[in-house]
Amino acid sequence: MTEQKVRQSIRCWNCKNVFTLLIDTAGNPELSLTCPFCGASLHIKLAQFPTTVTTVLKNVGDSQPKEITVFRLPEIIETEPPDKV
Ligand SMILES: [Zn+2]
Repeated sequence: MTEQKVRQSIRCWNCKNVFTLLIDTAGNPELSLTCPFCGASLHIKLAQFPTTVTTVLKNVGDSQPKEITVFRLPEIIETEPPDKV
């Protein structure tokens, strides 16, 4: 499993507060989480964002760089209530 963790800013659809979360952009395209401010359920569809292929070297000395597909995320992800999906 290749993981590409990024710290991402996310805006709550309910209280409009922005918080950051470490998410895996090479992993599950759908995320369900809870707003740390108001406790609202948030749903994020990473699949709506374009993807890009990036090359990573997992270990120093690896002869073969690994190509992985990651989501190109905006500076702040807008969320939506889960029952809208
Ligand atoms: Zn909130």
